[in-house]
Amino acid sequence: MTNAIKPLVVVTGASSGIGAAIARRFSEAGHALLLVARRLENIEALNLPNAMCREVDVTDSAAFAAAIKEAEARFGPVDCLVNNAGVMLLGQIDTQDPMEWKRMFDVNVMALLTGMQIVLGDMKARETGTIINISSVAGKKSFPNHAAYVGTKFAVSSISENLREEVADSGVRVMTICPGAVETELLSHTTDKDIVAGYDAWKESMGGVLVADDIARTAAFMYGQPQGVNIRDVVIAATRQQ
Ligand code: NDP
Repeated sequence: MTNAIKPLVVVTGASSGIGAAIARRFSEAGHALLLVARRLENIEALNLPNAMCREVDVTDSAAFAAAIKEAEARFGPVDCLVNNAGVMLLGQIDTQDPMEWKRMFDVNVMALLTGMQIVLGDMKARETGTIINISSVAGKKSFPNHAAYVGTKFAVSSISENLREEVADSGVRVMTICPGAVETELLSHTTDKDIVAGYDAWKESMGGVLVADDIARTAAFMYGQPQGVNIRDVVIAATRQQ
């Protein structure tokens, strides 16, 4: 019996946390992968079969598009794009460096739009395909010190829902996952020590948070439904998260 490689899945931000876990889950399911992030050594260290690893800053749209083109030449058309790359830089509006707001909007929103633009034309033409956008509970409700980050994630959720309606007729699925707190590197980029300490205390108060594979299992389940079934929007958080 031959084990045919399943269609190409692109995972952005696969070098740590949720993206790495999603890459492992889709690899286990037998998919060809394009894994992109800036830390090439991390995605290569996942050591997954049929995985093309490329050092791409997703805010560089030409590099992002070139990597996808190269992967498609090897594995065939993208069947699923997981727009996972993201940054969370918590801060207060009156004191935060505006460059941090720009970085979050560039990565979390602009690069997500870019990724969708790169793959959508072909998906619509083939009348199949899935886009999974990683939003957040912070794309549903606000939290103190999260103003700009929440803005990016509300944008991800609303853009995804808008696109879902826009392409529904073509058979392309757009799905959104809104995780609550997950143990990853995400918080480590926030420089305000008091905010980091407060966030850590909040995680402890709920007796621990999710692990990255909780989100990866969810993504694999959503994608694994028949193409005619679209699990549009999932909120997944630790049971004790308020
Ligand atoms: P991590 O910090 O562990 O992972 C973030 C990933 O994004 C890394 O692989 C990083 O790769 C990549 N990334 C960041 N900037 C860029 C860039 N310019 N170009 C390419 N890749 C980039 O955090 P998580 O795994 O937690 O985050 C994944 C997603 O999940 C994010 O969108 C986040 O907002 C979302 N999320 C996370 C939650 C949590 O509690 N952890 C909760 C809700 C949502 P590299 O640095 O190598 O480029």
